[in-house]
Amino acid sequence: MLIHQLFAQKRPVVSFEIFPPKPDSPLESIFDCIEELQALKPDFISVTYGAAGSTRGRTLEVARHIQHDHGIPALGHLTCVGATAETIQAILHEFAAHGIENILALRGDPPKNAPFPPTPYRAKDLIRLIRQQRRSCSVAAAAYPEGHLESPSREDDLRFLKEKVDTGVDFLITQIFFDNAILYRFLEDARALGIDVPVMAGIMPVFSRPQVERICSLCGATLPPALRKLMEKYGHDKEAMEQAGLEYASRQIADLLAHDIDGVHLYTMNRPHLARTLVRNTSLR
Ligand code: FAD
Repeated sequence: MLIHQLFAQKRPVVSFEIFPPKPDSPLESIFDCIEELQALKPDFISVTYGAAGSTRGRTLEVARHIQHDHGIPALGHLTCVGATAETIQAILHEFAAHGIENILALRGDPPKNAPFPPTPYRAKDLIRLIRQQRRSCSVAAAAYPEGHLESPSREDDLRFLKEKVDTGVDFLITQIFFDNAILYRFLEDARALGIDVPVMAGIMPVFSRPQVERICSLCGATLPPALRKLMEKYGHDKEAMEQAGLEYASRQIADLLAHDIDGVHLYTMNRPHLARTLVRNTSLR
């Protein structure tokens, strides 16, 4: 099933993101998580790709398991930082051999404290290679409502996003954001530039103060005062923080649904109970 076809059939498209087990953990350690997510009837599940391809085999195995054993379309993430065209072509053959026809095409980040490798690939170059080799797959790409951290400006980032989409993207998934107004402004600006593919809003429920502080320092998402207040009030109490974070994310989702969003992509962090609560609290399903 090509995922982009879903957007013509339903609204919102709902997806969950998981990461594969580390190479030294058994593949089966993710199976319960997938089973619990299946019960929530997602339209697809996406599987991340470790930094610089470190979990490549695992990404493919987990994606194949999701499709083959659960009958749910899988979106395999793929990064190209530091890779050559030959390596990418070989990896695309592996995706095809595993029956993965939906790909989230990303540049990726270099390993921590390492300089950018000499290969200058961006996501756009990966998309071009995918389109040359596999014309009939669904290609997704990342979008940044607040602009990507490395981009000189939000306007430049939108311009680069338009180039990326024009290279052959079927739909977009956003980076996390905690203030819906930021997403609505991004959508308005993107549409004005002619970016007209469906956009899925990436939502991550906050479950601990260190988690959100780490994520924001990595991706630059703005912490709105309301969420900051919750963190100050409940940050010392694990259970209360998780509860408050889930309520916050539920309000975000309810508001997105009221704004007729194309899709909602939940970053589950392999914690299916978080996704279950969000589905229960909202009319996502
Ligand atoms: P690009 O679209 O290539 O953009 C990278 C930078 O280049 C941006 O600053 C952009 O503004 C700039 N740029 C683009 N075109 C030009 C140009 N012509 N001239 C100058 N600058 C330009 N990482 C992983 O390692 N594994 C994952 O599984 C993974 N999953 C992700 C899922 C989602 C939904 C998101 C939002 C991110 C994910 N990431 C993942 C993180 C992603 O790899 C990083 O954010 C990375 O830094 C950028 O990737 P990109 O594909 O957006 O890059």
